[in-house]
Amino acid sequence: MIYRGRFAPSPTGQLHFGSLVAALASYLDAKSQQGQWLVRIEDLDPPREIAGASDDILRALEVFQLEWDESVLYQSRRHGRYQDILDSLEQRQLTYHCQCTRKTLAEHSGHYPNLCRDKNLQLSEPAIRLKHLFPVHHFDDRLQGRIHLPTQGEAEDFILRRRDGLYAYQLAVVVDDIDQGITHIVRGADLIDSTFKQAQLYHYLNHLVPHYLHLPLAVNSAGHKLSKQNYAPAVLEQSAPQAMSNALMFLGQPLPKELHLAPCQEQLVWATQHWSLDKLPKKRAIPLPSAE
Ligand SMILES: [Zn+2]
Repeated sequence: MIYRGRFAPSPTGQLHFGSLVAALASYLDAKSQQGQWLVRIEDLDPPREIAGASDDILRALEVFQLEWDESVLYQSRRHGRYQDILDSLEQRQLTYHCQCTRKTLAEHSGHYPNLCRDKNLQLSEPAIRLKHLFPVHHFDDRLQGRIHLPTQGEAEDFILRRRDGLYAYQLAVVVDDIDQGITHIVRGADLIDSTFKQAQLYHYLNHLVPHYLHLPLAVNSAGHKLSKQNYAPAVLEQSAPQAMSNALMFLGQPLPKELHLAPCQEQLVWATQHWSLDKLPKKRAIPLPSAE
């Protein structure tokens, strides 16, 4: 089997330290196994996106010398494919229309007790939910070990297409990973709970789930994931070699002193040859020093 991995950023801002960590770890894991590494832009949600962010992210990857294989896939160009899959699930009666509002969900503390599953609603602008009939109860993460389905919420029916017509992340990510032949997924631990939903989709689409590795998230001192919303600085505000050395340290890889701040290419060659899962911190989150 050829290893095929990927990095799949959303263009909601420039590449920041947390996304560099995910890009670098997925790249090193792939390249240390003579694998291919693809890049996909998850531009599913135009209201949240920033003009030019996709190009900025790709340019930053180039500065870090993280070269991807094959051409970049853009989710915004794949709506037809998502709709075809949605139609096929609908024909198999695995989906239904939901009319619940945010207010209804709030009344159930954000959880969805499958209120519309048996109503057989035919709405003109529905949210479309997937029947979560065969929840996976655990999976084995390559870093975090065995992870069990959270007791609350995660086996609930989930949205595949929103009321405003936008396709949901859960649908697009699974369809894309299948179509791109992705065998190994390396991504942040904030997506652990999504893995259970995605496993249900893999099952319905008659496809084996990939191997998962969920990385510790880089969080600020308040414990929040770095993001545009909490003003994570663009990673290229410092020099690229500095940022790469910091990212390798975050990943527990013992970059030799003489390679600290060496050109990215030299750091990458060493890190690919020495990539070690045993040294990766087995945590779901790591706070950064406040200067970050
Ligand atoms: Zn509903």
